Amino acid sequence: MITSFTYDINPSRILFGPGTLSCVGDELNRLGANRALILSTPSQRADAQKLAEQLGPLAAGVFAEAAMHTPVSVTTKAMAAFEASGADCVVALGGGSTIGLGKAIAYRNDTPQIVVATTYAGSEVTPILGQTEDGVKTTVRHPRILPEVVIYDPNLTLELPVAMSVTSGLNAMAHAVEALYAKDRNPISSMMAVEGIRALRDALRVIVTTPADIAARSDALYGSWLCGSVLGAVGMALHHKLCHTLGGSFDLPHAETHAIVLPHSAAYNARAAADTLQPLVDLFGGSIGGGLYDFAQSLGAPLALKDLGLKEAQLDLAADLAVENPYWNPRPVERDAVRSLLQRAWDGARPE
Ligand code: NAD
Repeated sequence: MITSFTYDINPSRILFGPGTLSCVGDELNRLGANRALILSTPSQRADAQKLAEQLGPLAAGVFAEAAMHTPVSVTTKAMAAFEASGADCVVALGGGSTIGLGKAIAYRNDTPQIVVATTYAGSEVTPILGQTEDGVKTTVRHPRILPEVVIYDPNLTLELPVAMSVTSGLNAMAHAVEALYAKDRNPISSMMAVEGIRALRDALRVIVTTPADIAARSDALYGSWLCGSVLGAVGMALHHKLCHTLGGSFDLPHAETHAIVLPHSAAYNARAAADTLQPLVDLFGGSIGGGLYDFAQSLGAPLALKDLGLKEAQLDLAADLAVENPYWNPRPVERDAVRSLLQRAWDGARPE
């Protein structure tokens, strides 16, 4: 039976398919924008410059200093570049770090954003911005942060390294796993979550052996769109709290941390959310935690937090921080159980 629900749908315009990068100019015209500042990380500067050349007079310049966790110092510099270039729009070309910079600019000056997403992190379809200042990461949610236009061109993901494709794909799946048991879930978010995970599961199996398979790359990007959409639509729980703690307080890398923690957080909630997680048991087989662990292992994903540089002596503090101001979770967040979860994730042990 469908029970009562409230669903705030995030309005975005999505262009999907190989070759859609060529639509950026038309989309700028559609938005009534005349000069776009193109954003990227240093490693994707060449792609950003190529796009600027393609746009000709519609490009106001390239700012290629986007960095992980959206440091406010970088945003301040980018705001100055935006003003100096006479830009009236941003085009973010890249993954969550570059998209975060575009969102940070739009949050401050309400400029329209076009995002060309090149990883599976999902930030492009959420009204959420995480930014860092003086070592502290804060998260803000606001309609201004949501990009107006998202372009998913699978051609741009053909060279996303296999290891990054795997961790980024598992990062996307983590959004959808938590969306399935979210307190504020609805029938559409649950449908998108299962379909997003299915698409990524099938696509990642191909990408690890044939990274340039355009069909698999398209399916992975489709899955990441669905998983990002549910991240933007419903609340996240223990898994995201754990990853925010490990990333924010111990500086662990974003996608890898999500990839390692996911089987353990799913196992933690397996019994309390048995009904809503059943579709994933069907997809991965056996117990949800074990099934996700075996899947990650089969892809060659990192499995142990100790391999990311976290010290065993830090696990007590990590558990203390993770249970402070907990997000709503289907199973009560208990300190000892969370400490055990972290131990297994640190060891790289298969969830029980
Ligand atoms: P990223 O954006 O940091 O990218 C990692 C590296 O890969 C960068 O050097 C990037 O230039 C490069 N890269 C990206 N796409 C590539 C491609 N197709 N080919 C080759 N290289 C490529 O990594 P990410 O995991 O996408 O993003 C992580 C960041 O996003 C974190 O700061 C996280 O907090 C944030 N995030 C935010 C949200 C949100 O809704 N606010 C959601 C997910 C992630």
